[in-house]
This record gives sequence, C-alpha cells and structure tokens, in this order.
Amino acid sequence: MSVELLGKSAEELREYVTTLGEKPFRAAQLYHALYAERRFELAAMTNVPGALRARLAQETRITPPRIARRFPSADGSIRYLFSIGDPSNIDGPKPAQIEAVFMPREGRQTICISTQAGCAVDCHFCLTAQLGLIRNLTAGEIVGQVLVALKENRAQLAPQTNVVLMGQGEPLLNYDATMAAVRILLDPKGVALAPRHVTLSTSGIVPGIERLGKEKIRPSLAISLNASSDEQRNALMPINRKYPLDVLLEACRKYPLRPREYFTFEYVLLGGVNDTPEDARRVVRLVAHIRAKVNLIPWNPGNLPYRAPTAESIEEFQRILVDKGVPTFVRYSRGQDVFAACGQLALMETPSPFVALQQE
Ligand code: SF4
Repeated sequence: MSVELLGKSAEELREYVTTLGEKPFRAAQLYHALYAERRFELAAMTNVPGALRARLAQETRITPPRIARRFPSADGSIRYLFSIGDPSNIDGPKPAQIEAVFMPREGRQTICISTQAGCAVDCHFCLTAQLGLIRNLTAGEIVGQVLVALKENRAQLAPQTNVVLMGQGEPLLNYDATMAAVRILLDPKGVALAPRHVTLSTSGIVPGIERLGKEKIRPSLAISLNASSDEQRNALMPINRKYPLDVLLEACRKYPLRPREYFTFEYVLLGGVNDTPEDARRVVRLVAHIRAKVNLIPWNPGNLPYRAPTAESIEEFQRILVDKGVPTFVRYSRGQDVFAACGQLALMETPSPFVALQQE
C-alpha cells in the first residue's frame, strides 16, 4: 500500500522520511516542493536527490484533485468540478466529486473550497444540502483544491490569495482534516497565507467553535446566521434545533478574538422570508456585545422555492444595521451564471440557466 504525501504536515513528512533512513531535512525539501512550489510529480522535485525520488516513486503517491470540468463565468470566476479519490487505489478514500471556485479581483484572488463531499447539515436554502453527505475530505484533498486552483491560474495570479472554506460541507464536522489543511495553508513554509485571509464558515456547530477558539493557529471565523429568531432559523437551518441562537451567540461572546479580529456573520437575504426591517432590528440585538461585522448576501437564484430580495429591502436592512453601529456590507456572490455562488454548489453539470443579476 503506497503512502499519500499530499496533506502530510512537516512533522508527518519528517517521521516518514526517517522511517526510510533519510535525514529529516529531506522532509523539509519535500514539504517545500509540495506546498510552496506546488509540484505534484516527484520527477519535478529537483530539490530532492534522484535516488530518494526513485524510492519515493515506488512507495508513495501524490493525488491532487483532478479537474473533471471547468465552468468559466462571464465575471471571470471559474467553477471547478473536481474528481477526488483514485479508483485504482482500493485502500484509499473512495472516489467522489467536489467543487471549488476561483474568483480573480483587482489585487487578489479568492478561492472557495469544499471540506466535505456533499453535506449533512440540510440548510433549506442550500443546493449542496440536496446531495446529502457523501464523505469527509482528507487534508490533502482540502489543501489540494487551493494548490490546483493556484497552479491552474498561475499566469494571472495577483499578489494576495484569500481562501474561504465555504464550498460543499460543514468544515467543523470534518474538524481534524480541515484544521490539518488550514495549518499547511497558514504555514509560512507551506502555502504561506495570512490568517486574516483564510476564513472558515460554519452553520453554527458550537463544540467546533469552542474547539477552534483553543487553537494556536486558526483561520478567521464566519457564522452563517441567516435568520433573526429561533423560529425562523429552525425553519431554514435545522441545525438550530441542536444549537439554538442563545447557545450559538454565547459561544461567540466567549470566543477569544484576537486584537483587531472580528466575527463575520453571513446573512443570506431571502425575499419575503428574513429581509424585513423587524428582522434587521432583531439582528442588531443578536450581535450586540459581539465584535462583529455582517455580510448581507442577496439570495442567488437556484432550484429552490425562494426569491431574491428587492434592492429597497437590501438597502433598508443595511441602513438599520449601520445606523446602530454594526459594520455591514452587501456581498453579491460571483459566478451565479455557472452555479458557483454561495449555496449553489451542487455538482451541476451545466452552466446555470440563470443570468447573473448583480455582480460585485
Ligand atoms: S449552507 Fe453549508 S452547512 Fe448548510 S447545507 Fe449548505 S454546505 Fe452544508
């Protein structure tokens, strides 16, 4: 059985090369080649001696996500449909398909990645929920999405890379693999991203939030709020029955934010459902005493029984929060025309029939 190298930490690679009778610094060379240089073929790792590469070729494998389809959007974003798991490796993780989205912007690119294939959380406004949970991703499959997207777009990369863990899956229900991938993303000797440029978004898994607060190295945290009362949130996000708003917000209040660190509350505005001025006033009360900003995300059309909010209701909602001192931004998801926007990642095989209504 061959050993998978992608996803291994510096420490794990050190342990592995030691079992081969090699010096520990060989592990640092491998780590650099994999994550800093994004090399997936041993033959291309010219910083590693030929004899060791020949041995590794016998005993190891490197399995980045394979691009099954690319869906370029008119706004410059690209949705990737990835195949993961090697069907020829019967002992390895089972084959599945996942998605990631590459979004270029002036001075930076943002890559939205998946942490699970499908999702078990069942948020009612989310197309991914319709897949159910297929399986957890490994650390290599999570970090591999970033590496492949960067490699694919190397000719047009901006200086700054943001990563958002907001694709398929609930990251805190695949905690260990997600955090192993995040540590590689944030390691200055690995992918070398800044902690404020990597954001983990959760539906509100309270034990995971508490655990994350104890991590020395961690990403920024976004909470998918989407409702202004328990009644409303129970109807939209059944996870709220397990972790209701008072429990969730208490966990946020206790979370050890660093200086200048903010929570982000994501709020998908569903026309006629959660977008009234009363909702906005309740949200103000909910986030009181939490160092937070709010991102309002107007609903993206999908095969679900919701409608987009009106421009007036978006503006009014934002105004009420801002007037009460809550920093609030309207985020128009990108890539709507190729099913790449928030809550639209459901392995659609075709570009979306919906036309992008609003772009950033
Ligand atoms: S919004 Fe996120 S947590 Fe909820 S079902 Fe979709 S992927 Fe899962």
